Amino acid sequence: MEKELISVIVPCYNEQEVLPLFRDEIIRVTNEMKSKYPHLEFEFMFINDGSRDDTLKLLREYSLEDKRFRYVSFSRNFGKESAMFAGLENCKGDYAVILDADLQHPPKLIPQMYEYVKSGEYDCAGTRRISREGEPKLLSFFSSSFYKVINKISQTQIVDGAQDFRLMTRQMVDAILSMREYNRFTKGIFSWVGFRTKYIEVENTERAAGKTTWNFWKLLKYSFEGIFAFSTFPLSFSIIFAALAFIAAVILLIAAIVNSSEMLGIMCLVCFMGGIRLFCLEVLGQYIAKTYLEVKKRPVYIIGETEEIYRKRKEN
Ligand code: UDP
Ligand code: MG
Repeated sequence: MEKELISVIVPCYNEQEVLPLFRDEIIRVTNEMKSKYPHLEFEFMFINDGSRDDTLKLLREYSLEDKRFRYVSFSRNFGKESAMFAGLENCKGDYAVILDADLQHPPKLIPQMYEYVKSGEYDCAGTRRISREGEPKLLSFFSSSFYKVINKISQTQIVDGAQDFRLMTRQMVDAILSMREYNRFTKGIFSWVGFRTKYIEVENTERAAGKTTWNFWKLLKYSFEGIFAFSTFPLSFSIIFAALAFIAAVILLIAAIVNSSEMLGIMCLVCFMGGIRLFCLEVLGQYIAKTYLEVKKRPVYIIGETEEIYRKRKEN
């Protein structure tokens, strides 16, 4: 059987505590896969997203010990979206699987994902979180509201609870790479490119070690990123409010005719209209800001070092 390479892509930001655990687990799982499917080869592509701890040091050690361990180290922190993109762009696999370093995406699911895709029925197999246990109630409420809103106003449907953890074919990787936008909302990109995706339902898993970098405000900002990146519906708020304002004006006109104390009504209307105008301007501003960033065509990430650069530097 012809050899097949699976690239395991792991974004890492300050993951020194969990990396040794992750390494053991990924080696264990892929060794098992290799004994079942001897034609499989693996590469482990870590993205060091500007960590301030010893993540890079560990990655250097791993890559010297074992050739399958590769890394791309960013010149600074660019965020997980950029890290995933860099992983896909620098990997060589016939298949790529993306997963978090903290073992919240259990590597033991990779064999099952591979089997779904290998069967030819699917191009991608990912996980979907069906329980939100261990998550604050308010956060769960906002998350599920976000999916409802975005799926109503965008043509790109995003599956509730779908995670970034997924294995996909080279064709899907190339499709994702062809989307070179700067404001990356990968959950939307995954579904925008299409392809047949199998979702494996999973329970929520806690982090194995270390701390999450997410908080409520970051998540809120991230959901707005999603809406602005995949829907232009907010741009039409102004027309809806204009219609409302028109109706209000008609009502006011009638009120003015029926009784003579319309002064207060007019003042209310002035405030209301002013508010609406500012709101619509803000929406417009958001899109202009995004367009501005896209037009500049800045790189999504900048490489500071890779395992190859490091090896050469050490040899010379
Ligand atoms: N991560 C990253 N860059 C960042 C923040 C996070 O590459 O700026 C990585 C992190 O190392 C982890 C994954 O993205 O592998 C998910 O991050 P985290 O566990 O903090 O998020 P959560 O699981 O709480 O959503
Ligand atoms: Mg996590």
